[in-house]
Amino acid sequence: MKKKFFYFIVCIVLLSLVLSFSACSYKKQTSYNLSEMEDWSFEQEAIEAARDKGGLTIIDNNICNFEIVYPDASSLDVEEAAIFFASILSEMSGCEINAVKEAEHTNSLGAFYVGEVNASSSLDLSAIQNDGYRLYSDGQNIYIKGKDDNATLNGVYDFIESELDCMYVRSDYTYVPRYENLKLRAYDDTINPSISWRRVYQYEALENDWYKKLRMNGAGEREEGNNIEYYKGWGSWCHTSFKYISPDEYFETHPEYFSLINGKRCYVTKKYGNEIAAHLCYTNEDVYQIVKSKLIQNIKDNPDVIYWDISIMDTYAPMCECDNCKQINKAAKSGMGTLLTFLNRLGRDIKDDYPGVFVSTLAYQECQEAPVGIECEDNVAIKVCAFPGSQKFSFADENGTKESKRIQNQIEDWSNICDHIIIWDYVVNFSNLLMPFPNMEIQKENIEFYIENNVVGIFHQGSRESGDENAYMRTYLLSRQLWDKDVDLMKLTKKYIKVSYGEASEYIEQYFDLQYAEIAKSNKDLSIYDMASRHKNGYLSKENVDAYVDLTKKALDCATEESLYELESIRISALYAKLEADDWDYDGKMAVYDEFKTLVIKHNIEKESEWGDMDAYLENCLSNIEGIKTKKVLAIVCPIVGVITLAGLVWGIIAIVKKYRKTKQGS
Ligand SMILES: [Zn+2]
Repeated sequence: MKKKFFYFIVCIVLLSLVLSFSACSYKKQTSYNLSEMEDWSFEQEAIEAARDKGGLTIIDNNICNFEIVYPDASSLDVEEAAIFFASILSEMSGCEINAVKEAEHTNSLGAFYVGEVNASSSLDLSAIQNDGYRLYSDGQNIYIKGKDDNATLNGVYDFIESELDCMYVRSDYTYVPRYENLKLRAYDDTINPSISWRRVYQYEALENDWYKKLRMNGAGEREEGNNIEYYKGWGSWCHTSFKYISPDEYFETHPEYFSLINGKRCYVTKKYGNEIAAHLCYTNEDVYQIVKSKLIQNIKDNPDVIYWDISIMDTYAPMCECDNCKQINKAAKSGMGTLLTFLNRLGRDIKDDYPGVFVSTLAYQECQEAPVGIECEDNVAIKVCAFPGSQKFSFADENGTKESKRIQNQIEDWSNICDHIIIWDYVVNFSNLLMPFPNMEIQKENIEFYIENNVVGIFHQGSRESGDENAYMRTYLLSRQLWDKDVDLMKLTKKYIKVSYGEASEYIEQYFDLQYAEIAKSNKDLSIYDMASRHKNGYLSKENVDAYVDLTKKALDCATEESLYELESIRISALYAKLEADDWDYDGKMAVYDEFKTLVIKHNIEKESEWGDMDAYLENCLSNIEGIKTKKVLAIVCPIVGVITLAGLVWGIIAIVKKYRKTKQGS
């Protein structure tokens, strides 16, 4: 007996240890600490700008004898970039700097030559990759040139930031230092982007063509009649199977082109009670021939396009269950078995006639896992969806969560069979677009992990709605990193905050530091669908949220005319956190409600979540706050009623027992 008791105690102790270990396992160390970092200052940058670095002197005691020179037969894009460049140099030097065509160039002035000018015709461009550029200087001039206009634009915009210390802070604001003296290095460089294809999908990126300055490949939604690049280089982007084989056109006459599910051919099916799109039967020969013929026509019609997507619909429907499909997918242990076999065949069939063109598909839902026993052809690209992923642990982190490691394995599996991966990851909280969301610390490790694993393109999916949490800073930092993976994100953040918020910076730094410190020491992961209640004992606890409200109030008290609107944006997130915090602070929530409402109307914020309208939210929020009073009353009344009921119950049982005994004694 004693032995059994001993084992029992040992089991309890072991179980407690396992439970306490697993409860701590999501904690991590953080190095995110803006307040402790060396301060960024304009004065320090001005001293460095004036230091002799062995190249040209651009501004000499407030005199700038340069002009921006662009090709005589320039595109509008390059001309606009040259004019922008001249405006930056004018603001920086205090002199009037012109942008002129090459034929109009004043030879007594130095030149920043941009693009395909005659003066740079002998420049060696052979080391340029993708949309990178050459940067070269001689005794009098500087040359910026890409292989095409788009790459030249990248060169101009990159030079302005990387060499002239400017910052494209927002779509409507570029920070430009005012220098009395500016001396540059001697240049003989080729600058290539770290990631060949770059995009942050974010509403703000589209405003004023900000995405061009950020050197991204496309932005925003295509609207009828405008010329916004949608997904540069892509003829089609995702969920395209039915664009090739449309159910309207083919289902009635050829149901066998579509999925066999539960013994029936279909293009829609039901799962979890929802009607959802099904897929194609990728082993059907006619399906292959139709898709191939349409693809080749598309390629002929659009010779500049690099990527053509052929992927499953946006649905969690099973893949086709016909004998052929089932057999292949079973052997491959993934729905990708049939789809990748289909794509590889397309790849082989177009390779000789259309070199440089890729067929691409989504590793998503049933096709998310890399198939066993199949490798991608050289001209097959895979878009791997890191869904839902982790926002607290990078995919490189060996101490990460189950979910972060699942994505880690998935990307590694794909990189073993594919040399051309595009990552589709997610960077905002889609359930609560305005909630503070401290997910920037993982981004550097993520990009390094991606590059190690054959990733050549990154699509960071942010918010398609305007004004979500920290939208400008997140977009800015992510796109800088896509261009240059070695950029120091923390140093950039420090400068970004200083040039955006001025005197209020110290409070904004503390506001972000607190979020990162608190999420790091929490037991919870950070997810793209998180609700405040999940973090009620962590970074969204009452104490922390009250600190965010307090810090943003102090920041607002230091606001200037220039910084007020952007400080309000941060304030909105702090107030939203207060309204959503999982506590019963009726007075605290009521105190911020009106301010929140005024600000979201002023900032024209229409969505609270990816699917929720702000008007409905404001109404529900108020009634939820009112509901706190009822909850408080119930919290007092319920235990009293409970105690009385329990006492009554006990009394009743005692009475029954007594009666029973009496009856028994009587009999
Ligand atoms: Zn099939």
